[in-house]
Amino acid sequence: MPISDDLLEILACPMCKGDVEYVPEDDFLLCERCNIRYYNKDLKECPKCKGELKPIKGEVLICKSCKRWYPIIDDIPHMLPDELREDLV
Ligand SMILES: [Zn+2]
Ligand SMILES: [Zn+2]
Repeated sequence: MPISDDLLEILACPMCKGDVEYVPEDDFLLCERCNIRYYNKDLKECPKCKGELKPIKGEVLICKSCKRWYPIIDDIPHMLPDELREDLV
């Protein structure tokens, strides 16, 4: 349980400042070459390099207000605004 309730309390969506909800296991598609995980399960290939995508399980934070998603990678929540993200496709 890497995300404590205390931390979850503090974390907020960078776009709308809404509360986020912790989901311990969800499906991602990982491009190992770009090291980007995508949440869009309809992707057939990596939009950046056209490489193969590998299904993986991972933790995710979902904003309760705007429903944006933020991955937790190696116990670190990656909460970036839209304009800095490569995984929004
Ligand atoms: Zn790629
Ligand atoms: Zn939000």
